[in-house]
Amino acid sequence: MGIEATQRTRGHVAGNAEDAMAALRARAMEWELAVSETAQGVILDLRGSRVVMRPIGPETETGTETGAGTGLGIEITAPDDRYLRAAQDSVTEALAECGLEIGWDDVAAGALAPGLSIGVAISCRQSAPGFLRLRVGLADASRFASTGLHFRLLIPPRDREPLWPRIGATARVDWPKGADALHRAVYTVADLGADWIDIDIFDHPGSPTCDWARGIVPGAPVGIMGPGGGWLPEGDPLLLFGDETALPAILRILRLSEAPAQAWVTASPGDLAALGADRRVTRIGDLLEALDAADPGPGGFVWFAARDEIAREARRRLTARGLPRERFLAVAYWR
Ligand SMILES: Cc1cc2nc3c(=O)[nH]c(=O)nc-3n(C[C@H](O)[C@H](O)[C@H](O)COP(=O)(O)OP(=O)(O)OC[C@H]3O[C@@H](n4cnc5c(N)ncnc54)[C@H](O)[C@@H]3O)c2cc1C
Repeated sequence: MGIEATQRTRGHVAGNAEDAMAALRARAMEWELAVSETAQGVILDLRGSRVVMRPIGPETETGTETGAGTGLGIEITAPDDRYLRAAQDSVTEALAECGLEIGWDDVAAGALAPGLSIGVAISCRQSAPGFLRLRVGLADASRFASTGLHFRLLIPPRDREPLWPRIGATARVDWPKGADALHRAVYTVADLGADWIDIDIFDHPGSPTCDWARGIVPGAPVGIMGPGGGWLPEGDPLLLFGDETALPAILRILRLSEAPAQAWVTASPGDLAALGADRRVTRIGDLLEALDAADPGPGGFVWFAARDEIAREARRRLTARGLPRERFLAVAYWR
């Protein structure tokens, strides 16, 4: 992966390098990250950052040598501070879960969590029978125009002064807990301008986000953390499958991608909005049935987002069909 490494941080895990390396390899496997062995060390490519791990040898007269000895050296490089701090948090967390500690050269202790901007609710209106459209004002929304389609919407508890997640002394993000805990659902950028983003929220019963959005007072603070979750899928053609919660993402991909694309969606006709007039979009009753009938050909990419058990089954079927892992994405959007 070509990362322009303008930001860099180094850390050191004392003790057994093998244990630390195993903890990070396990996390890489869980997140389906590319791992490569090079002369520089073992490299993990995260989204937007690179982690290089090297066993550190004992101190000698000529400096520190590479090799078995005093622990694992870790270097993270990234194009900006957001990706760097997010990777630092993930690495520290993965090691902590295995009882290991890492000491970093520098930690941005006290800063807002990586990628978090505090915005203000501007408006919320019913945009379709089943959707609310929320507009959030941000000092600068430009980063949401590229690199990631999604973000976390952080809603503070009612009637309390919001506490926002911040980077702690170990480089891990400290999230407010108990009565200060934030509701933090993931959404897609439906539209944006220089200083605002729009979010299309599927209105379903028991949704804290919908309850909050309906009652917003303009100017109320809200956290927007991202973008993340990857940018446009790449393939020719793109085959897109999704339920109501995936409609905003499908609409954005169809708008922005230049690749030939087809989409199959489960949603009521009234909720299709702009997608209803798009010839590439077919309204269906069963996403899995449509998936079985679709053929991505030699260069196509399958993008699938729906309820967790349906997304899991889609992933199972695509794997059973022999579609290589890098040619599909099947994601749980809700459970
Ligand atoms: C990458 C990504 C992008 C997403 N983009 C969008 C988007 O742009 N618009 C959007 O509306 N959603 C989107 N979702 C889905 C959204 O995050 C979930 O629906 C989430 O649960 C909503 O939070 P909540 O506050 O409404 O409910 P939660 O507190 O998460 O859940 C409350 C209750 O609602 C139920 N529930 C959650 N979703 C649904 C549903 N769709 N239908 C019926 N019951 C439900 C839960 O089972 C639970 O019982 C996205 C999810 C992901 C992972």
